[in-house]
Amino acid sequence: MASDSFSSLSISKAQLANLESLDYKKMTAIQKQSLPYVLKGRDLIAQAKTGSGKTAAFGIGLLEQINPRFFGVQALILCPTRELADQVGKELRRLARSTPNIKLVLLCGGKPFGPQKGSLEHGAHIAVGTPGRIQDHLRKETLKLDGLKTLVLDEADRMLDMGFFDVMTEIISQTPKKRQTLMFSATYPSQIKKMCRSIQRDPVTVTVESEHKAGVIDQMFYEVKKHERNNTLLALFEHYKPETALVFCHTKKECDEVARFLSGRNIEALAIHGDLEQRERDQVLVQFSNNSCSVLVATDVAARGLDIKSLAAVINYELPRDPEIYVHRIGRTGRAGETGIALSIFTESEQFRVKSIEQYLKKPCICDVYASLDREPGFSLTSPMVTIQLDAGRKNKMRPGDILGALTGEAGLAGSQIGKIDIFDMSSYVAIERSALRQALNYMANGKVKGRNVRARRV
Ligand code: ADP
Ligand code: MG
Repeated sequence: MASDSFSSLSISKAQLANLESLDYKKMTAIQKQSLPYVLKGRDLIAQAKTGSGKTAAFGIGLLEQINPRFFGVQALILCPTRELADQVGKELRRLARSTPNIKLVLLCGGKPFGPQKGSLEHGAHIAVGTPGRIQDHLRKETLKLDGLKTLVLDEADRMLDMGFFDVMTEIISQTPKKRQTLMFSATYPSQIKKMCRSIQRDPVTVTVESEHKAGVIDQMFYEVKKHERNNTLLALFEHYKPETALVFCHTKKECDEVARFLSGRNIEALAIHGDLEQRERDQVLVQFSNNSCSVLVATDVAARGLDIKSLAAVINYELPRDPEIYVHRIGRTGRAGETGIALSIFTESEQFRVKSIEQYLKKPCICDVYASLDREPGFSLTSPMVTIQLDAGRKNKMRPGDILGALTGEAGLAGSQIGKIDIFDMSSYVAIERSALRQALNYMANGKVKGRNVRARRV
């Protein structure tokens, strides 16, 4: 057995100290398996689930390669969505603390082009972004990849699902032949295999157990007639009464319809999918992460990689075609030793999906009929918190402490009534206990935050 201590790796003392300050006591499974190869410069195909520590598995390696005195992009990380790119960027910045003067630029769509161009002109060592925007920069020649040493494809299967194959190929064609290519993917479909063959050299493959500990997630399947889907969904809420839930649908339209249906029956739900504008997406994610929204209805793509705390329930409004995706979906519940429930609705014509899940899990799926569920009449689900949006953000030098200070100071709220605070460029969001909403808004109507009047509204 190889050691799982970071000190067994050939990395700088400064990085070891940094990892200690981050409280990374030992390597996660994927880090332990990947890092020795990544540090040797080998190409890699790594299969691991969300939350397994993939960012450090490539990040620690690519940082060792970077020459701070060369002001060109030496590492490029492609991610499927802006949220994922943000998460990777944040984690890499933490890991880069040990190496002075490393500049990282985020290149994502939905953000103005100019500042990204500016950062690139000033010299960035690491670029993290989404394929579309990176392609734009390459075409406008604001990004050059001649000096690239490490290319990372993070959540590659999802990028392919989103139709990025051609864009990715174009980007890769503009990188030096002699480079290290690290491919991270939760699943390993044939398209990925094909891509790996054409872009990698003698890759090492590592896999980390992707199944969840048995018993932690209770799984139930409900066979229904097509027109009974909505009523069954409602019955599941009224029977299981989960405090939080993520509901999966196939299409954007369905997400909207299901969220509307639930909200109309006193189960407050928000939909998230690719058609939302960036600002709307941000608001939905903020509300879900700060407990102002208890039920999120999402497509697989939109839910992928979201940094969501453990959920009480995952509900499949429809079953996915691929059993691996089923396993990923339900992995959102029952995390960190808690028990979760995974509930799935299917129709007769989707029975084969249940079969393939049984084969994949190597155990029978337990099916029930929804008519047998005892329901609590009048059950309603409202979030414990509500979100207030302030029209001042990072650009106004707003910090969480400023908002917390104003609300617990002059506004007179208790610290315990204030939840998560998220600061964006032009606005900020703060979660407030429902009972304290009026008090907070009343204060904001006249009071000041950081010496200035801010406009506040309930999201
Ligand atoms: P993934 O990309 O696999 O979904 P991340 O790289 O985002 O996962 O890591 C998930 C979380 O685990 C992050 O909050 C990260 O800071 C933390 N983490 C990663 N590696 C370690 C480690 N060795 N020890 C403790 N925490 C870690
Ligand atoms: Mg990740």
